[in-house]
Amino acid sequence: MTDVVAELIEALGEDCVLTGEDVHNRQAGIWRSDTIQAKALLRPRTTAEVSRALAICNAHGQSIVPHGGLTGLVESAITSPDDVALSLERMNRIEEINPVDRTMVVQSGVILQVLQEAAEEHDLMFPLDLGGRGSCTIGGNISTNAGGNRVIRYGMTRDMVLGLEAVLADGTVLSSMNQMIKNNAGYDLKQLFIGTEGSLGVVTRAVLRLREQPTSRSTLLVSLDEFTNLARFLKHMDAALGGTLSAFEVMWNNFYTLVTTPPAENQAPIPRDYPYYVLVEAMGSDDAAVETALAEAYEESLITDAVIAQSEAQRLQLWALRDSVEHTARYAPIYTFDVSLRVSHMEAYLAEVNGRLEARYDDVNNFTFGHMGDGNLHLVISVGQGGPETRKAVEACVYEPLAAIQGSVSAEHGVGLEKKPYLGISRSEQEIELMRTIKRALDPNGILNPGKIFDGASVNEAAA
Ligand SMILES: Cc1cc2nc3c(=O)[nH]c(=O)nc-3n(C[C@H](O)[C@H](O)[C@H](O)COP(=O)(O)OP(=O)(O)OC[C@H]3O[C@@H](n4cnc5c(N)ncnc54)[C@H](O)[C@@H]3O)c2cc1C
Repeated sequence: MTDVVAELIEALGEDCVLTGEDVHNRQAGIWRSDTIQAKALLRPRTTAEVSRALAICNAHGQSIVPHGGLTGLVESAITSPDDVALSLERMNRIEEINPVDRTMVVQSGVILQVLQEAAEEHDLMFPLDLGGRGSCTIGGNISTNAGGNRVIRYGMTRDMVLGLEAVLADGTVLSSMNQMIKNNAGYDLKQLFIGTEGSLGVVTRAVLRLREQPTSRSTLLVSLDEFTNLARFLKHMDAALGGTLSAFEVMWNNFYTLVTTPPAENQAPIPRDYPYYVLVEAMGSDDAAVETALAEAYEESLITDAVIAQSEAQRLQLWALRDSVEHTARYAPIYTFDVSLRVSHMEAYLAEVNGRLEARYDDVNNFTFGHMGDGNLHLVISVGQGGPETRKAVEACVYEPLAAIQGSVSAEHGVGLEKKPYLGISRSEQEIELMRTIKRALDPNGILNPGKIFDGASVNEAAA
């Protein structure tokens, strides 16, 4: 056993420090087939224990990788046998729900769905929602600045966090548990830990902003026959629904066909004959307004067909279409992407990506869907072959065209190891250098999730 592990056991107790098979038997991610490789996995119960663990690791120059629900999609929580993993799984308490201030105080290991349901019990809503809700943690959501299905209305995780507590690399506990919507007293330090993938500190607690539970919800699926109508339909519905539009999820025909054809169990509520389908949700809208908006869209030939969910069961069936992403695995090996670009660039961008792929491979499937209302597309691509070279070539087809249109290689999933080589497409040299400067200031020994997002971040690396 290494010195650092022995010291961690002495400080935290054996129960807090898993080693050997207890670590290696754990899956490395919910969609991964490999298991965790790390010299130890820590399971602290309190912020004080997280602080003690980080102080010890910092003194030993020991790398440490925070773990939430391991649902991340960019290899951001991956460990090597030389790392220590720090799981927040036992810091899973909802400490307080305040219906007057509409706030919730949570520990960072709380599962997203658990806190959504706790808010509902008070007729309130925590608006963040995504397919991984049953496994991802609020700490992971904060650290990735997760987006999801309702960004068009409520923003990303960043917009839902009022305050947080984080432990810095040297064990310092930074309590920034602000409870107010407005607080411009100096730097907003919590932003350092939102979307920075555990590279600047370990998030241990947070104050979340809750919203009133909507009194109604209209969910509908429509089909369209032209891309330009997608953008026009988005504008039309947003304008007609008076601010209640909360999801605008587009599925291209190949994705819709995949998720409505056996072995997928979903029925196709609209025939599979159209190039585009949109799942629209309005929260707090009046049903008549939704029906009028839809009728107008039909009269203006923006849409070709539509169904409106008549019950909660039907609403869930419509959402199941959008959430049935796992069926793309039938085309493995697959490559998944999460890109961001202006809606006005989308059609030409996709034509270019598909053109590049088809020029190179004979058997291309590009299952396309995403949060189009936020300018966010997901592509799941298979080209009939795998391996690192293929992956690199497919990534070039997807990422290179983003440079000319100032798109982003990561809309909502982060960078991790997977997108690190492409960060320069979306961020300037100056931006990346400033990121390194911040990293060195907060974590001079480079112990926190090292090697993720960018290289050259520790003082030692920079000097080398
Ligand atoms: C079916 C499915 C659907 C998804 N849909 C979406 C979607 O619509 N939108 C979206 O944005 N994402 C989506 N994701 C991706 C994923 O769920 C999010 O990135 C989520 O926020 C990760 O949370 P986690 O707890 O699993 O974090 P992990 O995967 O465990 O970790 C992610 C990163 O955060 C760091 N981290 C975790 N906890 C902490 C902490 N307490 N302190 C500091 N760093 C920490 C890790 O080191 C790592 O860098 C989806 C994933 C799945 C499986």
